[in-house]
Amino acid sequence: MKWSINAGRLFGIKFRIHVTFFLLLLYVFFSDIKEGFGQAGLSVLFVCAIFACVIIHELSHSLVARRFGREPKSIMLLPIGGVATIDMMPTKPSQEIVISIVGPATNIVIAILLALVGGPSIAAAFNKSVNPTASQLFILNLIAANIVLAVFNLLPALPMDGGRVLRSILAMKFDYLRATIWAVAVGKVIAAFFVVYGFYSRNFLLALIGFFIFAGADSEKRQAIYLAMLAQRPPDLTIPPEYINLEQDDRITRQ
Ligand SMILES: [Zn+2]
Repeated sequence: MKWSINAGRLFGIKFRIHVTFFLLLLYVFFSDIKEGFGQAGLSVLFVCAIFACVIIHELSHSLVARRFGREPKSIMLLPIGGVATIDMMPTKPSQEIVISIVGPATNIVIAILLALVGGPSIAAAFNKSVNPTASQLFILNLIAANIVLAVFNLLPALPMDGGRVLRSILAMKFDYLRATIWAVAVGKVIAAFFVVYGFYSRNFLLALIGFFIFAGADSEKRQAIYLAMLAQRPPDLTIPPEYINLEQDDRITRQ
């Protein structure tokens, strides 16, 4: 993808960061600078912590896909989240469900681990009715962010994880292309709702996510059509003898 920088490899998978991600960090920093340098730095650190969870989420998809024999190509970090690109060979619906669901499940596991680490001291602070410390708030917000990430990704809107699960369930009954067309239609209805409600409630991030789901759903449909065409390709592609070879300066009609 254009405007992205190479950030090395994670478990052998190319890891790239889109330059607009750094713009997001700058935006967060300068939005909070009026509350002091320390608070602005903490906000940037919090955004980085959320995106570290997003990377672990994408990594879980990629590594489980690799276990099923599909090659993870890259992980890209964007301001609206992460994208794991895996080769487009369709797997069995049951395997696709596991690959899709492991991402949100990873966020739930992270939330549980954070709750185990920070929970007792946060609960003690609440019991004593004292204000939680900055680090306790940090952990509490990160737990909430991971739960939101899990729930949001499970919405049945292709190309999000929930949409992939929906497509796989449909693919158990219909062919892959038909299952994709139905899942894309559901995804577009949800995306349209995000766009309309996002503009209505002035939540422009939600509207932007709606646009991305819309575009992503279209690209999933194109990919499914392409795969269906590949599947229909005749198995023997040797050139029949009645075909003639054309020379470079031949005209279209040849006597
Ligand atoms: Zn995911």
